Amino acid sequence: MEVYKDITPLQHYLNEHKFHGKKIGLVPTMGALHEGHLSLVRASQSDNDVTVCSIYVNPTQFNNDQDLAKYPRTLDDDLTMLREVGCDAVFCPSDQVMYIEPSRTRLLFDRLDHIMEGKFRPGHFSGVGLVVSKLFNIVAPDRAYFGQKDLQQFVIIQQLVKDLSFNVELKRVPIIRENDGLAMSSRNRRLGKEGRGKAVILYKALTEAQKMLKVPVAIEQVKQEVRGMVEQAGVQLEYFEVIDPDTLTAVTNISEKNNVALCVAGYVDGVRLIDNVVF
Ligand code: AMP
Repeated sequence: MEVYKDITPLQHYLNEHKFHGKKIGLVPTMGALHEGHLSLVRASQSDNDVTVCSIYVNPTQFNNDQDLAKYPRTLDDDLTMLREVGCDAVFCPSDQVMYIEPSRTRLLFDRLDHIMEGKFRPGHFSGVGLVVSKLFNIVAPDRAYFGQKDLQQFVIIQQLVKDLSFNVELKRVPIIRENDGLAMSSRNRRLGKEGRGKAVILYKALTEAQKMLKVPVAIEQVKQEVRGMVEQAGVQLEYFEVIDPDTLTAVTNISEKNNVALCVAGYVDGVRLIDNVVF
């Protein structure tokens, strides 16, 4: 596996493959890898000739300095996992490589970032859009892989690709969960034993909500039930939204809809976790 910290040698490597008509798949990550990330790598490997995984904790997408400082960084373990899964190349740049000087470009996604993550993490999607655009320009992949875990991010990147005419095909990969249902996340490493026990309520609440909505119980009542369940478990609910997974618009009447996403965010002992189900 090739490991690149700089852009030019990475591009030499990629140009060689592109010259021979090879298809390139990109898997952007912030490291602290788990099976969820590896499922994106495997998806890329099955569609492409060469898979590049990027590992970069992007400061411009953090609106909270504490969260950035505490974000787990486990590069050696990440490289071992990627080697084991047979990833072809890793791009792990420093801040100096990614941002030669402080960025001034800000991206707005209109109503797409006025809700959920965008509402509670101001500037987050501007930073995501910026770093993903940089990665698309640096790697120029044929396909790029993102998790459904960050559903709003996926829809926003779809918009970015259309608006900026990036020549890349986006793939959405399902959420990989722990045995009890907790969505895998790099942030789960920050949970203590007690927090780990509480965290599963987010998924339990999503599955309960899904059952209730299918009855159908009214959306407002389901929202109240979810808040009650989550808070009773000692988790601080930030939001629970019922939306269309393609447009992110609020769903008001389940029976009219084919596809519905239930999205939740909450703090478990100070660790912010998100999850969703699409049905
Ligand atoms: P992150 O390192 O958290 O920025 O995540 C990198 C990519 O992995 C994003 O596209 C995430 O949506 C995806 N991802 C994170 N957790 C999971 C999971 N449990 N299952 C599938 N994909 C995931």
